[in-house]
Amino acid sequence: MPPPIIVHGFFDNYAQAVGKIQKEIGNNFTVKFTKNNTNIFCKSKEQWTKVNKLLNEQQVEFHTYIPAEEKTHAFVLRGLDQRPTPKEIAEDLENNYNLLADKIYEMKGTARPLYLVVMDKNITIDKLEKHIRIVLYTKVQWERHQNNKLIVQCHRCQEWGHATSNCHANPKCLKCAGPHLTRECEHGHLNSPKCANCNGDHVANSTMCPIYIKKIEFINQLRQTKDTK
Ligand SMILES: [Zn+2]
Ligand SMILES: [Zn+2]
Ligand SMILES: [Zn+2]
Repeated sequence: MPPPIIVHGFFDNYAQAVGKIQKEIGNNFTVKFTKNNTNIFCKSKEQWTKVNKLLNEQQVEFHTYIPAEEKTHAFVLRGLDQRPTPKEIAEDLENNYNLLADKIYEMKGTARPLYLVVMDKNITIDKLEKHIRIVLYTKVQWERHQNNKLIVQCHRCQEWGHATSNCHANPKCLKCAGPHLTRECEHGHLNSPKCANCNGDHVANSTMCPIYIKKIEFINQLRQTKDTK
């Protein structure tokens, strides 16, 4: 089943909203109310895409998650000190290994050139280490990319747990929690930041934020219970 679509709050006119969804995908959905949200569950990816589009057109505030089959793996590629362009790397991988990379970025702020290579989830580190040792006539090493934060944060509404590309909520500023995108903030460098998630006096991506800490503790608990099973 595709991930739920989380509508923020409740529809002003529930019957009308459900009618529109029904017109798109028939009865292939269920609704679950939580304290603050209306969650919509679709049966197939295709229906999920249609409801996403519909709600977006209706300017409904909502977010959702990346469907599992679209999740990608990211790897760090090192050894290419001649500093080729990402395009040259992509072409070499495609021509010599028949491997299509979704995206390749040169990583910033590293002493020697490192590249972040995003591929689909069927590509594993084992496969890369075994089969792709030479890129552009150069010996390379692969590593799994570690995100240093344990959960994603949305750069649009600042909530933890969903990615910006899946967010259709009203924007909130990282720095001042105001109703605008962070890049449109007029406060410049802010002496008294305000967190969009807890109203505390820190920027919303602070790892000191009690909301972030709570989420991390929850994730760690889940991991521990899994390990002891
Ligand atoms: Zn968001
Ligand atoms: Zn702002
Ligand atoms: Zn906070």
